[in-house]
Amino acid sequence: MDAVLSRIERALEALSRREAACDLCPRDCRADRTAGRTGICGIGPRAGLASALLHYGEEPVISGAAGPSGPGSGTIFFTGCNLKCLFCQNHQISWGRVGRTVSDVELAEAMLDLQARGALNINLVSPSHVVLPALRALVMARPRGLLLPLVWNSNGYEKDSVIERLAGIVDIYLPDLKYVSSELSARYSEAPDYFERASTALQEMYLQQPDLVIDQNGMARRGMIIRHLVLPGCTEDSLAVLEWIARSLSPSVGLSLMSQYHPCHQAPPELRRGLRAEEYGRVLSRARELGFECLFAQPDVFPEGDHLVPDFGRERPFRWKAG
Ligand code: SF4
Repeated sequence: MDAVLSRIERALEALSRREAACDLCPRDCRADRTAGRTGICGIGPRAGLASALLHYGEEPVISGAAGPSGPGSGTIFFTGCNLKCLFCQNHQISWGRVGRTVSDVELAEAMLDLQARGALNINLVSPSHVVLPALRALVMARPRGLLLPLVWNSNGYEKDSVIERLAGIVDIYLPDLKYVSSELSARYSEAPDYFERASTALQEMYLQQPDLVIDQNGMARRGMIIRHLVLPGCTEDSLAVLEWIARSLSPSVGLSLMSQYHPCHQAPPELRRGLRAEEYGRVLSRARELGFECLFAQPDVFPEGDHLVPDFGRERPFRWKAG
């Protein structure tokens, strides 16, 4: 008897009841997605698959330290998103509709294919609005031999009542914590309640997977890594994010502090520049002062042209030798 499969089936049963008047995320659109209607995320009953690839650019414990010569993270990028970040580097798939609508079987096949190609894990990117297709695909894939750790790589704008259902299913939580300030989250992501909802969701994730467990090959097997992208001119809010994590969760939680901001999409005038080294340095120093033990940092500055923005219009959205 597969205990994980039983949990997935129970989660599906509970969450499926919410699809006809969708309240699966804090937007509470109440759209009848079973009838093909869509809410803010723009997605009906089936998932949109933008890309399924071996990803070499996640944190080393997720992608592997070997880079493009290693196996990589089995990453599935979904179309649509419940946040509306003006600066989104994945805007072609989050705001736009790049990707194809797939059946649950096709999604299961994509997971199994990544495993067959040697992926280290199954890494679901922005999965919150497609939690049901993802779970239905897992129900099909597990009896066919899918065994890889499951990574929930989300924007953090989620309901704790949904995350509770993922206990014992998700092995590694990899959520963003983008803002504390409701002014910033309203202006940049159309979500004034972002922190209120994300902080509650992250607390539930932390309850389930508090400790990052690394195997003998240096790969994460379970736990939690919180990502924070430092935005130009927003270092005070970044410091508030770190203070909250240290105080309300623990400095022992995994923290990935990102400097890779690059102006994209509809970035407003004040965000139309790269992050300065001193801005990132200030936030990184504070993270060290606060005692974050499991800290993933990026270079102080990304040279122009060396940013990590993918192009989902290409067969291989990233510039490394992706699988
Ligand atoms: S998942 Fe989509 S339809 Fe459902 S509440 Fe969120 S944004 Fe609205």
